[in-house]
Amino acid sequence: PDGRTLEVRVISAGSKYTVVVTRDITESKRIDDFRRDFVANVSHELRTPLTVIKGFLELTEENSTLSQEDRLHLKMMSEQAERMSSLVDDLLTLSRLERDSAPAGRDPIDMLEVMTDAVAEGRMVSGGRHEIRIDKVACEWVLGDRKELRSAVTNLVTNAVRYTPEHGKVSLSWEVTDQGGVLSVSDNGIGIAPEDIPRVTERFYRVDKSRSRETGGTGLGLAIVKHVLFRHQAQLQIESEIGKGSTFKIVIPKVRLLDEEEELLGAPAGA
Ligand code: ADP
Repeated sequence: PDGRTLEVRVISAGSKYTVVVTRDITESKRIDDFRRDFVANVSHELRTPLTVIKGFLELTEENSTLSQEDRLHLKMMSEQAERMSSLVDDLLTLSRLERDSAPAGRDPIDMLEVMTDAVAEGRMVSGGRHEIRIDKVACEWVLGDRKELRSAVTNLVTNAVRYTPEHGKVSLSWEVTDQGGVLSVSDNGIGIAPEDIPRVTERFYRVDKSRSRETGGTGLGLAIVKHVLFRHQAQLQIESEIGKGSTFKIVIPKVRLLDEEEELLGAPAGA
C-alpha cells in the first residue's frame, strides 16, 4: 500500500498452518527497473547514429576509384556496423520483453508456418552448407504471440546451424505429448558440456566467445528465447552431448494449444 514491493514465498502449506516468508525487494526492483530502462534508452539512442554510419559506408563503397585495401577496410567497417545493429536490436527486444510482465497474447498460430519461416532463415545463415528439414508436424495450433514465437524458433534454428559444422543436419518437429506441445530443434553439431547447459540462457553467456562472435552471435539469443517462453508459460529443455549435438525443446502447456476442431469452430463464418 505504501508503494513498496514485497516478495511472498510459501515455504510449506499444511492443513493447519501455512508458513510464508515475505521479503522487501523494493530496492532491488528499483535498481533492476533502472538498469532495464537505461539499457533500453541507450540502445534506442544508438540506432540513429548507426543508421547514418551504415548509410555513408554504403555510399563510399560505391566509389569505383577505391584501392583494394580501402575496399577491405570498408568491408570490415560494414560488418562491424552490422554486428552492432544486431546487438542494439537484440538489447531492445530483450528490454521490451522484460518490461512486459503480462502473459503473451492468444492469437491462433499455425506452428508449421512458424517452423517454415525459421527454416528459411536457417537456410540463409547456412548458405547451403547444412541439411535442414522438418520431420513431424502435429495438427495443433498454439495460442500465443506470432512475432515472439517466430523469433524464438528462428533463434534455435540459426543457433543449430551456427554451432554445427558444414554438411551437418538440423531437424525440426512439432508433436503433442502428455507434457503439452513440444517443438524440437536438433542438430548433430559441437554440443554443449553439462556444466554449461544451465548457463546458456544467461545474457552474454557464450561457451566459446570467439566462435560465437565469428558466427555473428550477439550472446542474447537464448536470453530472448527464455523471456518469450516465460510469457507463454512455456519451458525450454536442453539435451546435449559434446561432439554429438544438441536438442532444444520448447514445451508449450496444453492451455495454450488449440486442436483442429476448436480451430474450425472458432473460425469466422465462411473462412
Ligand atoms: P550466441 O549469439 O552467442 O549464439 P545465444 O544466447 O544464442 O548466443 O547462445 C548462447 C551460447 O549457447 C552460444 O554462445 C553457444 O556457446 C551455446 N549454444 C547455443 N545453441 C547451441 C547449439 N545448438 N549447439 C551448441 N552450442 C550452442
